[in-house]
Amino acid sequence: MKNHSKVGFETKCVHSGIDEYEYGSVVPPIYQTSTFKFKSAQHGASLFAGEEKGYIYTRMLNPTVQAMEDAIAALEGGHKALGCGSGMAAVHTIFAALTQAGDHVVCSSAVYGPTTTLLNTIMKKFGVETTFVDTSNLDEVKKAIKPNTKVVYVETPGNPTLCISDLEEVSKIAHKANVKVVVDNTFMSPALQNPLALGADVVMHSLTKFLNGHADVVGGIVVVKDEETYQHFRKTLNQTGGVIDPFNSFLVHRGLKTLAIRMDKHCESAQTIAEWLEKHPMIDSIRFPGLKSHPDYQIGLKQHKGPGGMITIELKGGLEAGRLMMNSVKLFQLAVSLGGVESLIQHPASMTHFSMGKEARLAGGITDGLVRISVGIENVKDLIADLEQALKKVEEAHLKDVEVHV
Ligand SMILES: *Cc1c(COP(=O)(O)O)cnc(C)c1O
Repeated sequence: MKNHSKVGFETKCVHSGIDEYEYGSVVPPIYQTSTFKFKSAQHGASLFAGEEKGYIYTRMLNPTVQAMEDAIAALEGGHKALGCGSGMAAVHTIFAALTQAGDHVVCSSAVYGPTTTLLNTIMKKFGVETTFVDTSNLDEVKKAIKPNTKVVYVETPGNPTLCISDLEEVSKIAHKANVKVVVDNTFMSPALQNPLALGADVVMHSLTKFLNGHADVVGGIVVVKDEETYQHFRKTLNQTGGVIDPFNSFLVHRGLKTLAIRMDKHCESAQTIAEWLEKHPMIDSIRFPGLKSHPDYQIGLKQHKGPGGMITIELKGGLEAGRLMMNSVKLFQLAVSLGGVESLIQHPASMTHFSMGKEARLAGGITDGLVRISVGIENVKDLIADLEQALKKVEEAHLKDVEVHV
């Protein structure tokens, strides 16, 4: 479907990026080939010169990959997109394309961990400095911008605190200083939030999460607004080589078709679970964009169509309570990642961030009782029943502990 500007989002999910194929194939064929044959020396020459359209080599462009890229560009309301081998390959492509030695980046402090590490190690090694600020605080953004700032990089809702940055206002501040705004839209997906329409210049996603949605692909994507930026990014990606392959692109494209209905279910179930958790005696605090108790609830209403499927809770009882909950769930699976059809649960203090030590964890906002939940599309009553029995074990242990200590 070539002109997708007028149809509804669900229709775009099913039809975007789909063309006329040989044999009347309804879905894009998987062109599992590394290279494409030229008809003649002249044909090869004109393809390389860009005088004729066509495919040369899969690192440069592949029809199956391109179908998926076109679909996501349409869903984000962008001009074109670039498929990458992972979300981190997408993040790296962005900084490789937009910065050089001597430049400065302003980045959300609540951002995906490896993004922080990339900026603090590899980008720093190549002379790019980063200031991390709470981008949900507009004054902090204003103050952090310097004459050599090239990018404001925002993740909203942020990881794992789920704080929300006002994309319209951040974009205004950055553009006044001639700085590009890049948004990691992984937690929302284009079904819930379209940063380009709110003023951002570039959007990225980890395809690994909601876009593919089935926990069987690692991939990333960058969406841009105009042809000039696209050509610049394409050259960068072609040179650094972090492309996605045709088969994974096919799987992502298949996942996209159900994105709208999956996101509806993620949001609805997460809302039900969050409201239930908020009243539970073992929950010290909860962060979920769909609760009125969320500090940025109003900003959320302004810029996203739904709260998403991610919930962060603070358990009473700290590290041991977190461990016990992890070992007690039966339906929720203990795993990192998010955005798949299956519900996942993670306890950073005893798992992903254990080796950091408590002090470093606390500096990053990761308390001992913090638990992150990715709500899947199972029956919500089953999910609540699982959390209920696991929290009951935590409560019993907590009561015993309290008795021992008095
Ligand atoms: C997972 C994730 C990434 C990185 O994506 P990979 O596909 O794992 O490389 C980046 N940003 C956010 C918000 C993520 O959740």
